Amino acid sequence: MNRFRLPYHLVVAEGIFNDIPECMKDVFPELKNSRTIIVTEENLKSIFGEILDDVGNDFPQSELYLIGKTDYDSAVRLAKYIIMNDIKLVIGFGGGTVLDLAKFAAFVSKTRLISLPTTLSNDSLASPVSVLGTEGKARKSFRCTIPDAIIVDINVIKSAPDRQLLAGIGDTVSKYTAIHDWKLAGRRVGDKVDDFACMISHMACDSMLHGEMEELKSKSFIRRLTDALVMGGLAMEIAGCSRPSSGSEHLFCHALEENHSEATAVPHGIATAMGTYPACIFQGRKTDKLVRAIKRYAIPVKPSANGVTEDIFVQAWQGAAASRPDRYTILNETDLSTGRLREIYAQMEEIF
Ligand SMILES: [Zn+2]
Repeated sequence: MNRFRLPYHLVVAEGIFNDIPECMKDVFPELKNSRTIIVTEENLKSIFGEILDDVGNDFPQSELYLIGKTDYDSAVRLAKYIIMNDIKLVIGFGGGTVLDLAKFAAFVSKTRLISLPTTLSNDSLASPVSVLGTEGKARKSFRCTIPDAIIVDINVIKSAPDRQLLAGIGDTVSKYTAIHDWKLAGRRVGDKVDDFACMISHMACDSMLHGEMEELKSKSFIRRLTDALVMGGLAMEIAGCSRPSSGSEHLFCHALEENHSEATAVPHGIATAMGTYPACIFQGRKTDKLVRAIKRYAIPVKPSANGVTEDIFVQAWQGAAASRPDRYTILNETDLSTGRLREIYAQMEEIF
């Protein structure tokens, strides 16, 4: 059985960033006086300066650490700094790239980690995976552990751009094809499929596919989206891999990021949602449920609106399996001919 750990705290509330030690004192009474590093980036410091000051005041022995690059070497450098300076607590304050860097550094230095997301654009706030740059434009996913606490301040999320929250919905909806691919790999090549991880991932996906339409920035929707993203992270932690959240639609997204980043600037969750519609067709399943959810939230998955031309679309799908050759998905057994991909591209341009 895979060994896994779950976060001690998941708090979603308004203004909660002013009260972090208080809401965690039942489990970590000594937290307030631990040597702490608050990891964030320059532009967030200018947007959330006051909030960062408040967090800093709550942890009198804290220092602010502004990240530059978000690659593997920077994460290792941060880990070394944490170890050399006897830091006991890492607070990641930011979006996916900041949280991934903080997560990896906390994992390597065996330090506690609090995740304070400033947006809900993907499941990195709670996932046990850190995606870091390696060589050139290439990025690699590294296994680490899930944060000890995930604290979401509704007021902060309200200030995030709509497009980022739509990406968070997109990343959740894309589990629809990821779970199917995982089960396929179980049947075809004997991948171990964990029932509980599948169940939790299904629940996360269903909460976006079937839930009632709500105002994106409402308290209840922010809570619902947080829960869905956290469930996605838990499913990966339980499975011991990213398979419950990542299938052929993610391979398409990786191929776009790695080979066409100049031509396109598609946020992760939008790209994976864009990949879910074709993946669903490759899997021989009906697309109605998926299309309804994408349209309900108006997730901007129309390829051309994201700079994805027909050629880029075709190349990305044809190169998708190679972005992670060890991962068996529907791409290993479907027709990826240029003609078929062009047809699907045209359909997407029409529908979305
Ligand atoms: Zn994802």
